Amino acid sequence: NANTAWNLVDEYITERLIPQDPILEQVLEANREADLPPIDVAPNQGKLLQLIARMTNAKRILEIGTLGGYSTIWMGRALPAEGRLITLELEPKHAEVAQANVDLAGLTHRVEIRSGNALEQLAKLEQEGTESFDLIFIDADKPSNPAYLQWALRFSHPGTVIIGDNVVREGEVVSRHSTDPRVQGVRAFYDLLAKEPRISATAIQTVGGKGYDGFMIGIVNG
Ligand code: SAM
Repeated sequence: NANTAWNLVDEYITERLIPQDPILEQVLEANREADLPPIDVAPNQGKLLQLIARMTNAKRILEIGTLGGYSTIWMGRALPAEGRLITLELEPKHAEVAQANVDLAGLTHRVEIRSGNALEQLAKLEQEGTESFDLIFIDADKPSNPAYLQWALRFSHPGTVIIGDNVVREGEVVSRHSTDPRVQGVRAFYDLLAKEPRISATAIQTVGGKGYDGFMIGIVNG
């Protein structure tokens, strides 16, 4: 069946292009031991985030939705020594596991994990007068996606890259009458993007070990 092929091809890609990484394996093991849900990005997706961070020469990265810090570490490794990644996480337990994982990866000084509701944390960042970010990865509660996009635009400069994960949801995204608030959140995210002149975006469907989904990628216009 299709899923078997997706898994096999993900394994094939990962074996060839993504060298075994004892730290990242320990991170996933720590997440399993702490009973975190296995909803981190796949290795080949984590590497895509890292490549985008490198391609955009990102020095400041904002992540919304840390979980155990798996995607955080992929992106954090692309930062120069003086670079900074701020990641927001609602669940104190997730933030705690993520902090240990970030420390294990040697990224303690580049990564700041802020625990609490992302909407509150974003408002706080603004009060603190935070500088704009070069790359923003939105991967938390989907009903808040439209609000996260608005915040992302406030924290951006021309050229900032914004990525949103899980924007296909096994194709459910086209179900206009879906009662799933995550689907409706994603649909509102598209509607906002459609009428937002400040960003130029596309979305790509993906299949693989994590199922059938997709991501949005956009750039803030000059
Ligand atoms: N980016 C992570 C990775 O790939 O390793 C996965 C993030 S997981 C899909 C989503 C995370 O968002 C969960 O850890 C969840 O607790 C967190 N979350 C949910 N609602 C949130 C909120 N309102 N504010 C901040 N984080 C939230």
